[in-house]
Amino acid sequence: MTPRATDSVTLVEVAPRDGLQHENRVIPTDLKVAWIDALSKTGLPVIEVTSFVRPDRIPQLADAEEVMDRIMRHPGTRYTALVPNLHGLERALAHRPDAIAVFTAASESFNRHNIETGIEGAFERMTPVIAEARRRALPVRGYLSTAIGCPYEGWIDPARVAALTERLFDLGVDEVSLGDTIGVGTPKQVRTLLDAVGARVPLARIAVHFHDTYGQGIANVLTAVEAGIRTVDASLNGLGGCPFAPGASGNVATEEVVYLLEGMGLPTGVSLPDLLATGDFLRPALTHSEMSRLAHVPRTSRWLDPGRSGRDSTPGCSVLD
Ligand code: MG
Repeated sequence: MTPRATDSVTLVEVAPRDGLQHENRVIPTDLKVAWIDALSKTGLPVIEVTSFVRPDRIPQLADAEEVMDRIMRHPGTRYTALVPNLHGLERALAHRPDAIAVFTAASESFNRHNIETGIEGAFERMTPVIAEARRRALPVRGYLSTAIGCPYEGWIDPARVAALTERLFDLGVDEVSLGDTIGVGTPKQVRTLLDAVGARVPLARIAVHFHDTYGQGIANVLTAVEAGIRTVDASLNGLGGCPFAPGASGNVATEEVVYLLEGMGLPTGVSLPDLLATGDFLRPALTHSEMSRLAHVPRTSRWLDPGRSGRDSTPGCSVLD
């Protein structure tokens, strides 16, 4: 699909939740709040701030309440939180999330290892959460992880993912984010998956969530955007990991997605120099020493500002034309 001049892409920044939960170190709350406030000023439209999971399970996010209360809310940004069950929703509601996210894997085995129940059990947990959120007019995102590959089951059947996606919409979610949790997919699998899902639900309501474990993150984002996807999850500096590949790269890096999309004439509303500065701000506190490739670029590079760099920013002018 060739982008139209009116097209834009909504980025969902997942580093504060998905990124930090894979960090070995607990980031002090003061620093986390200051960092999220800085992220808010980059123009990001959605920030997944935290997760209301059990603090003993994920101590990195044990300060969920305090972080939600203390961040400065930018009017142009939606602040969302992940909730695992009704108890998590009750905890979250007092701290004014703009939306919540629920989750299941498309793989029975992955669910059993990750949340100690199968797909049916996950739907049983999500159903009342989604119903209660809807009753309160709170938007709900559904995460469908291992949508391409599973460490236990191998390749996942796209037809199964499409059916589960439809089922999530039937329950009342507003958006489904399809995650290649272990980052094994290539553009071929992405295309096949989006063909299958797109045959059953509008792709306008689908987001993609790619990991860079095998270096396919940006290629997969491009493929998804070509297929018509306009919501993309990404994590600043590629923060995050793959629980089944220790030391592997994490989520696709937000700065590289911004560079790709802006260069294609698809506005994101995000300032690349500001985004890189927020990455530099947090890096000394992290145990992860690796950086995205783009994060190595000198901050004085003229190419970091597509508007002034001389790159062709004609609306709709893209590599897809
Ligand atoms: Mg992720």
